[in-house]
Amino acid sequence: MIPVAKPYLPDRKKLDAYIESIYESNWLTNNGPLVQKLTQRLADHLSLDADCLVLVANGSLALHLSYKALDLTGDVITTPFSFIATASTLKWEGLNPVFVDIDKDTWNIDPKLIEQNITPGASAIVPVHVFGNSCDVKAIEKIADKYDLKTIYDASHCFGTSLDGKSILLSGDVSTISFHATKLFHTVEGGAVITKTKTLADKIRKMVNFGIEAPDSISVIGTNAKMSEFHAAVGLAVLDDMEYIEVQRKEVWEHYQRMLASSYQLQKRSPRASNNHAYFPLLLESEQAVMEALNSLAEHGIQARRYFYPSLEGVHIFDNERLCNVSYDIASRILCLPIWSGLSAQQVSAIAKVLIGR
Ligand SMILES: *Cc1c(COP(=O)(O)O)cnc(C)c1O
Repeated sequence: MIPVAKPYLPDRKKLDAYIESIYESNWLTNNGPLVQKLTQRLADHLSLDADCLVLVANGSLALHLSYKALDLTGDVITTPFSFIATASTLKWEGLNPVFVDIDKDTWNIDPKLIEQNITPGASAIVPVHVFGNSCDVKAIEKIADKYDLKTIYDASHCFGTSLDGKSILLSGDVSTISFHATKLFHTVEGGAVITKTKTLADKIRKMVNFGIEAPDSISVIGTNAKMSEFHAAVGLAVLDDMEYIEVQRKEVWEHYQRMLASSYQLQKRSPRASNNHAYFPLLLESEQAVMEALNSLAEHGIQARRYFYPSLEGVHIFDNERLCNVSYDIASRILCLPIWSGLSAQQVSAIAKVLIGR
């Protein structure tokens, strides 16, 4: 079977050397040497300031902490075309997601629709750079400034992505990223918050560790969102191989594009941002066609995924009546194809041929 995603397992010897250092230090968690080292190495790799980069236990907690640290209240404008965590974390924090429809070509929140959907109780906008495709950050920031709203970009798909020559993670008051096993770069489970200011990062660093300011003083409401040393060890070993991982993904992505671009609608990507080749989504002509394609692929032992489906505005937990027609339509027709380092050119050809031959 060809899986849709295959977590990258780093070289065992390299990983063992990091684990050996944990056995020597006997320091397993609580901002240990490997978490500190990974923070610095990620900052270097991504051209970020390590003082404004906080590693956490997963990408969902990165969102929770950001909403809390920015003191969000009431309504929060967000996209319905994302992984459930973008909006369920809002709901969990007692906030009310206001779903604004997406652009039919970029599949990101449509900035032209944001302004008319800002309610008197709105405190923030949470856009997603979906499949690593940059949102129209300039337009969104302009609206946020005008209405005094905070912006938190869910950049879970954006490892290594640059926008106008700088890291896309510098966008907004805060950007968050996920290092889950199936993401481009991973720490098994993990994530990070990237802030505009060191003051905000310092607040989040305390929140990650129960709100503890000093051994005998608590300064904010916190939780436990710490990354462990074992997770950091995996991250350090994977980070050493990122160049190889990125080259392999690029080959797969470009191979699919050559074979499928004339038969299927692909995502329109921002010309101002780089492509990290994390996903290969394509649109089919109907939901019926998606079901047929999934069946044909399964007959050939190939797994594809309806990602993101369903469109979030219709998920009952949000108790939402506002329809987002474009997102609903795109979600019903989307399919993500297998993409991972180690997927051979023959396998990519075989997958594309099944789709062309339908
Ligand atoms: C993966 C993902 C998350 C959640 O990250 P976890 O590390 O799995 O908690 C949030 N938003 C988006 C868009 C994602 O793809």
